[in-house]
Amino acid sequence: MIATLVSPRLMLVGGGAVLQLADVLAKLGLRRPLVVTDPYMVSAGLVRRCLDPLEAAGIAAEVFSDTVPEPTDTVVAAGVERLRQGTFDCLIGFGGGSPIDTAKAMAILAHGPPGSHMRDFKVPAQADSAALPVIAIPTTAGTGSEATRFTVITDTERGEKMLIAGLAALPLAAVVDYELTFTVPKRITADTGVDSLTHALEAYVSRRANPYADTQALAAMALIGANLRTAYAEPRNAPAREAMMLGAMQAGIAFTNSSVALVHGMSRPIGAHFHVPHGLSNAMLLPAITRFGLDAAEARYAQAARQIGFAAPSDPDPAAAARLADGLAALNHDLDVPTPAAFGIRKQDWDAKLPLMADQALASGSPANNPRIPTKAEIMALYQVVWSGNAA
Ligand code: NAD
Repeated sequence: MIATLVSPRLMLVGGGAVLQLADVLAKLGLRRPLVVTDPYMVSAGLVRRCLDPLEAAGIAAEVFSDTVPEPTDTVVAAGVERLRQGTFDCLIGFGGGSPIDTAKAMAILAHGPPGSHMRDFKVPAQADSAALPVIAIPTTAGTGSEATRFTVITDTERGEKMLIAGLAALPLAAVVDYELTFTVPKRITADTGVDSLTHALEAYVSRRANPYADTQALAAMALIGANLRTAYAEPRNAPAREAMMLGAMQAGIAFTNSSVALVHGMSRPIGAHFHVPHGLSNAMLLPAITRFGLDAAEARYAQAARQIGFAAPSDPDPAAAARLADGLAALNHDLDVPTPAAFGIRKQDWDAKLPLMADQALASGSPANNPRIPTKAEIMALYQVVWSGNAA
């Protein structure tokens, strides 16, 4: 098998890295950034962490801050309008995965012919050309979007979370500074942390796994397994935040060079129809979907359980694999992950959407990467298991 391996051209990783943002731009020959962020980052003053080092270097950045959580095609189009009003040579995505994905999508849409729509670029199309490069600065740990060749944009007309993939979605550079995550609230710490754990686990068990992605996935699982509960309980615990930020980035590198699988395939429709944040819908699904696949890749799931810390190094594969799904359910419990019902979704609405959600999950292609490839009926049954609290 030939693996196509990608990563940003430059990654600056460590506490205080954002202070060197102007140097990063200078190295890349860039001077006119449009910073893409969300309204909270502006109102809370957090965007200054990005703007101040630029101003100190004489770079007057402009800001587009109308991004929304789980970004939409309409926001991306508005961002492109903003882009066209100035003369910019790069975009800086500053925030969680939503602003970073918005910046990526703006760069892709702006390159398309007049009248282009974001859905023109969704998979299986390849989005390899962008109008300008993206520098990603994550402030959650995290989606790993700073290191991936993906952006996820909601089609507001069709109610679908679209996966857009290609080199144009891969940031030119990533500035990964865990000190930006001290202010992340508990719920978001938990959801984004489980998102990155899901990336690493799915990359490792994927049918598209390869030796390079494996090293990143295994490292990420060890870091996240040992530190997620601490980061959740102690937001200002620097070693835990640092480990989570590195783990999230490595999980991003892992899945962009392997793939995600059934959890992500089933997660996007939940997000699109019920507005559940991405990491949270992953967390709701993770134990049941893992249990579903265990027998199809027992050795891999067993190794994952050891890396995360749910099983001892000496546990034989069957015992270690069996501990994985239980360990993930216990993690959800400790992180106060709500069931779909506790989140506020009504049973009749959930049931009514099951066939459509199953179709959309399959159409995304992600389930085909799972160790055990589900039928539509199995996906619908799994959604029911998740409704009942992952008990099966
Ligand atoms: P987010 O970007 O939507 O942010 C969630 C909330 O956290 C926002 O209110 C934001 O203002 C706040 N926040 C962010 N950083 C903060 C900080 N340092 N302090 C305080 N508050 C902060 O959430 P997310 O989970 O990071 O990103 C989710 C998005 O990423 C989804 O759209 C998902 O589909 C996408 N995603 C993309 C990829 C990819 O490879 N492109 C991978 C996974 C997820």
